[in-house]
Amino acid sequence: MSEIDKARQSVLSRIAKALQSAGRSSNTCRLLAVSKTFPADAVRSCYASGQRAFGENYVQELIEKAAQLTDLPLIEWHFIGPLQSNKTRLVAEVAHWVHGVDRLKIAQRLSEQRPDALGLLNICVQVNVSGEASKSGCQPHEAIELAHAIAGLPRLSLRGLMCIPEPSQDSALLASQFASLRSLLAQLNQQGLVLDTLSMGMSADLEVAIAEGASIVRVGTALFGARH
Ligand SMILES: *Cc1c(COP(=O)(O)O)cnc(C)c1O
Repeated sequence: MSEIDKARQSVLSRIAKALQSAGRSSNTCRLLAVSKTFPADAVRSCYASGQRAFGENYVQELIEKAAQLTDLPLIEWHFIGPLQSNKTRLVAEVAHWVHGVDRLKIAQRLSEQRPDALGLLNICVQVNVSGEASKSGCQPHEAIELAHAIAGLPRLSLRGLMCIPEPSQDSALLASQFASLRSLLAQLNQQGLVLDTLSMGMSADLEVAIAEGASIVRVGTALFGARH
C-alpha cells in the first residue's frame, strides 16, 4: 500500500467510525480530498487509490491541475476557496461544485457562464457561523434569501450549505457552530428547497462535524500531509 492509500484508508475509517457513533448509516458522508498546494501527481496517486472528489482553493491551481489530469475520466473538481467575480468564468468551465458562494452576484455570473454541455454546477452557500469579522461567508440571517435566489438560477443546482468554524480545540464550541449550519439547512428544506449537503469538517474536526450531520468533509492535511 502506498502512503496515500494508507492515509486515505485511515481517514475513511475515521469517517466510518464517526458515522457509526452518530447512529448514521454508512456512506452518508463523502470525503472531499483537499489537494491545494500539492502537485497534480499527488492527485493522480490519490485517484488511483479510489478517490474521485478533489478540492482546490485557488483558481489558477485548479485550472492547471485540471488541465494536467484530463485523462482521469471520473475526477470531480470542487472549488472551495474565495471566488472573485473576474474569475468566475474559469471556475464555471472546470468545476463540478463550488462551495464558497456567499454573494448573489457570484452565483449569477456562474450560472450565466456555465457551459450548457457541462450540466448544472453544484453550489453550496457559505455561511459565517462564527461571527468572526474576517471570515468569508454570508451572515446566517442573509443565507435564507440568498439560498432562495440561487435556487432560481437556471444553470446551477443549489445543494446545501458550507461553513468553516473558528479555529478552536473546543469541541463544544465547534459543535454549536456546525449545529447552527444544520438548523439553517433544515429551515430551508421546510421552506420547500430540496437540499442534501452540509459541507463541514476538516482534518482536525471531522468527527465533530459528522456528529452534527456533515455530508461532505473537506480533508487536506490528514491525507496529503502538512502544507508548506
Ligand atoms: C484547506 C482547507 C481545508 C482542508 O483543511 P485541513 O485542515 O488541511 O484538512 C478544508 N476546507 C477549506 C475551505 C480549506 O481551505
